Amino acid sequence: MPTRKKFVAGNWKMNTTLAEAKALGAAVAKGVTDDRVTVAVFPPYPWLTAVGEVLKGSPVALGAQDVSSEKKGAFTGEVSPAMLLETGCKYALIGHSERRHIIGESETFINHKVHTALEEGLSVVLCMGETLAERERGLQERVFQRQVYAACAGLTDEQFGRIVIAYEPVWAIGTGKVATPEQAQEAHAFVRSKLRQLYGDKIADSTPIVYGGSVTPDNTVGLMSQPDVDGALVGGASLKADSFLAIVKAA
Ligand code: PGA
Repeated sequence: MPTRKKFVAGNWKMNTTLAEAKALGAAVAKGVTDDRVTVAVFPPYPWLTAVGEVLKGSPVALGAQDVSSEKKGAFTGEVSPAMLLETGCKYALIGHSERRHIIGESETFINHKVHTALEEGLSVVLCMGETLAERERGLQERVFQRQVYAACAGLTDEQFGRIVIAYEPVWAIGTGKVATPEQAQEAHAFVRSKLRQLYGDKIADSTPIVYGGSVTPDNTVGLMSQPDVDGALVGGASLKADSFLAIVKAA
């Protein structure tokens, strides 16, 4: 059985003041004392440098919630991978359902972002997952297959080494309706089987697939007990240091 290190990330979304972000970052940094689990936080763009400062010397990594598909130049409002690296970011979140469904990012655009981010040296947390309507029609596996094919097209083995996949059913995000451990396992195993088919055993066995969508300290252990669930992407519960640290502990 391959052993994959657990990965737990906090996606703060469009929340926190600067003072709150610094305090939350400092509390998480203080609470994570070993590197048994890879831990990362994803503050809003304007707070990245400041949170990066408070994380210095701790094992907690910094990530951005999005990244430009372009490297440099006349792209008003965009933030490049190089800029994120300079703020201290190691990771960028790409393809979050809020960006796919609210902002309207397409699968081609997401693939472009994944390539740019990896070429520039970031690691990527790539989100995917089905909507409620898709699940009700039994289409989730087709959706996963399409999303894996589209987002990962053209990646090298080395680049795969810097990808974490986050399975986030859209119906579970911010709703309090967490997927059951069995539903999560089924989805993760399917995504892993697609990775195996397309990219071989090494990539399938080494790519972490984490679960996201209403993760709390109470449901973490059940989810993490599944063989293909390699960690958690946490939204709401990552905004309180106590609950986020409890999730890290339970992972
Ligand atoms: P949630 O968000 O934990 O608040 O459901 C998860 C996410 O969107 O990454």
